[in-house]
Amino acid sequence: LRGVVALDGPSGTGKTTVARKLAAKLSAGYLDTGAMYRVVTLAVLRAGVDPADAERVAEVARSIELNIGTSPERPSVALGDEDVAAEIRGPEVTLAVSPVSAVPAVRELLVAEQRRIIAEVVDAQGGIVVEGRDIGTVVTPDSPLKVFLTASSDVRAKRRSAQDSAAGRESTVDDAKASVERRDKLDSTRTASPLRKAEDAVPVDTSELNIDQVIVALAELASQ
Ligand code: C5P
Repeated sequence: LRGVVALDGPSGTGKTTVARKLAAKLSAGYLDTGAMYRVVTLAVLRAGVDPADAERVAEVARSIELNIGTSPERPSVALGDEDVAAEIRGPEVTLAVSPVSAVPAVRELLVAEQRRIIAEVVDAQGGIVVEGRDIGTVVTPDSPLKVFLTASSDVRAKRRSAQDSAAGRESTVDDAKASVERRDKLDSTRTASPLRKAEDAVPVDTSELNIDQVIVALAELASQ
């Protein structure tokens, strides 16, 4: 792969699994930008800062050291040198991440960091698969391949609930549905870089497809 594959879409569309497998298949790097917003959110909660307090949220974002790995086989994410991969997926962070990522100063900081990481990986490895909400629209709008994953909210809720259970967190499909719908609404109605499909992104509905079918379709697109 040469360059960036931008993979955007709401939660529960299979984005993370698809992004990692596609990156591994293409011998490319992988960047989970959602994990970056989650680390900032974890730091905000630990500092006892209200996620709605934009000024203090921005201060926290500026004060932390966020370390994210780009290996699709072994993704890693740390706050300083503390591995926070499990904690950032917990319910507290998931509940607070949308208001934190709506803060323009947080986005500015993280987008700059994302572009720096992307440039470094493209330089070293030739290509990278980047997943998020605003990759095709804001982070790398010149990317040659942009994909927008969707799935029905029932399918997304089932997937999210299964993921939560696999990670040892209690979760009913109804709870998961309320959670993904709430977060998507917040993410797509915020002023700063709302979740939306880039005009030239290829829409892929994963409701009726399994992961391998999605990978085949995307690898085909990436090779064009
Ligand atoms: O992808 P994930 O569910 O981990 O993303 C967590 C949250 O981070 C999203 O709900 C969204 O609020 C925010 N996010 C964002 N922009 C991105 C990636 C994630 O605003 N590029």
